[in-house]
Amino acid sequence: MRAWPRTLRKAPAAPTAFLDRDGTINRDRAGVYITSPDQLKLYASAARAVKLLAEKGYRIVVLTNQSGVGRGYMTLAAAKAINLKLVRDLRAAGAPVAAVYFCPHAPDAACACRKPRPGLLREARKDTPADMKRSFVAGDKPSDLALARNAGLKGYLVLTGQGRAAAAAGYKDLLALARAVPDLGKNHKGKD
Ligand SMILES: [Mg+2]
Ligand SMILES: [Zn+2]
Repeated sequence: MRAWPRTLRKAPAAPTAFLDRDGTINRDRAGVYITSPDQLKLYASAARAVKLLAEKGYRIVVLTNQSGVGRGYMTLAAAKAINLKLVRDLRAAGAPVAAVYFCPHAPDAACACRKPRPGLLREARKDTPADMKRSFVAGDKPSDLALARNAGLKGYLVLTGQGRAAAAAGYKDLLALARAVPDLGKNHKGKD
């Protein structure tokens, strides 16, 4: 479900960076749930990374599993407040996020939106179409890469969060990834 913003402006199809949240943008430890906004701590380079991706022509959409809601560790309102803090913290650092979607269900709920299932991505694309050829998914878990495969998108692993445990090649962090992806530059601006 969409955590932010409440309403969306109509926008043309855009190359989109579908970013995972915990362990990719903000600090994350296995088995520790972020259940209140004050527990959300961005990585030092995260805002720079998101800003660079935006400058390179990508729309920024965050997709995050928040099973802590379904497990009863936090309310839906708390999950939304945490996502709102993420958007505000990034914005304050000049890094624009277009939308945040999250799955609030427990893993055994068999919902359609828990990554690597493509429900969140589908919902995001229904709200605002993505240029699928030039869009990608980035995250710190194999489930993020699996989501990319399931959606037919490029997928990139970052080695922050739980990425180091994934035993796969990846980028040091989101900033290293932001530096590596193509700059859509004039090509992109010309299309709008
Ligand atoms: Mg993650
Ligand atoms: Zn779900």
